[in-house]
Amino acid sequence: MGEEGKREILLVALGGNALIRKGQVGTVEEQFENLKVPIRQIARLSSHYRIIITHGNAPQVGNLLLQQECQNAVPKLPLEILVAQTQGQIGYMIESTLDSELMALGISAEKPLVSLISYVVVDENSPAFQNPSKPIGPVYTKEKAATLPYLLQETEKGYRRVVASPEPITIVEKREIRKLIDMDFIVICCGGGGIPVIREGRTFCGVDAVIDKDLASAKLAQEVGAHIFLIATDVEGAALHYGQPDQEYLRTITVKEATRYLEEGHFALGSMQPKIEAVIGFLRSGGKRAVITSLETIEEAVAGEAGTELVAGDPD
Ligand code: ADP
Ligand code: MG
Repeated sequence: MGEEGKREILLVALGGNALIRKGQVGTVEEQFENLKVPIRQIARLSSHYRIIITHGNAPQVGNLLLQQECQNAVPKLPLEILVAQTQGQIGYMIESTLDSELMALGISAEKPLVSLISYVVVDENSPAFQNPSKPIGPVYTKEKAATLPYLLQETEKGYRRVVASPEPITIVEKREIRKLIDMDFIVICCGGGGIPVIREGRTFCGVDAVIDKDLASAKLAQEVGAHIFLIATDVEGAALHYGQPDQEYLRTITVKEATRYLEEGHFALGSMQPKIEAVIGFLRSGGKRAVITSLETIEEAVAGEAGTELVAGDPD
């Protein structure tokens, strides 16, 4: 139990693999089936923790962009709207899966759920806007790329649209999320890192950018005072020499060690690096426990028996 006799807050950030596994085309049946793995564990954990679930959206937003490219019958929508759409579709899939799992445990009546459209504030003066570098959507040939009205970059796979990926500054709905978990709602939010917005006077305005879901989740974990920040992905944790013969998964490391490994380039840009940065940010802002683990081992990681756990202090 945490403060005021309330159960501790567990924030679980689900990676894209929670829905579509490598090698799958991503039919809706596959996505529902895959979701059962993490969601069944989260349902059980909800007896012991107040729960927040965040999630990625890269394949889903990629598919929406592709659908747009393939038609001229209806106006094309900006990225912020597509992110909002994926919050709706994935929120629905997580909610309905969670509802079934809670029902199977016989606790659905005492565990209300809600998916929240979430805005995340970014700084319009962020250097990220000067150097858009996050690839999104389909891969194009050089000839096709030349005809498109976007900023494109050549990647390993071919030409792709690139957008800015600015740092999340604050989650707009943090107070609402806090209130909902205090009332024992399970809250699904910050999908795809949130809809990026900038402040315009007293209102918000959506921008053409994407926010890393690990960094947005860490910011939310900090802002709601989560006790455990858990990132669930498709590997058992963070490894040194990843993909090399001497690959070695890390179990418990300090922020200082993690920072050194980051500098040494052990964690790939855009995949493991933002997770390590997110976890370091959470612990530096006063967070107590943060762990990166596989989708299959969420419960073990919460129990301290799996994953890569980062700790604030230095080992003795
Ligand atoms: P998610 O959708 O969960 O955010 P990502 O693909 O962004 O998933 O990140 C997980 C991937 O990070 C793993 O599948 C792995 O290939 C990659 N990765 C890169 N560097 C490392 C590392 N040092 N240790 C473990 N995994 C790593
Ligand atoms: Mg990722």
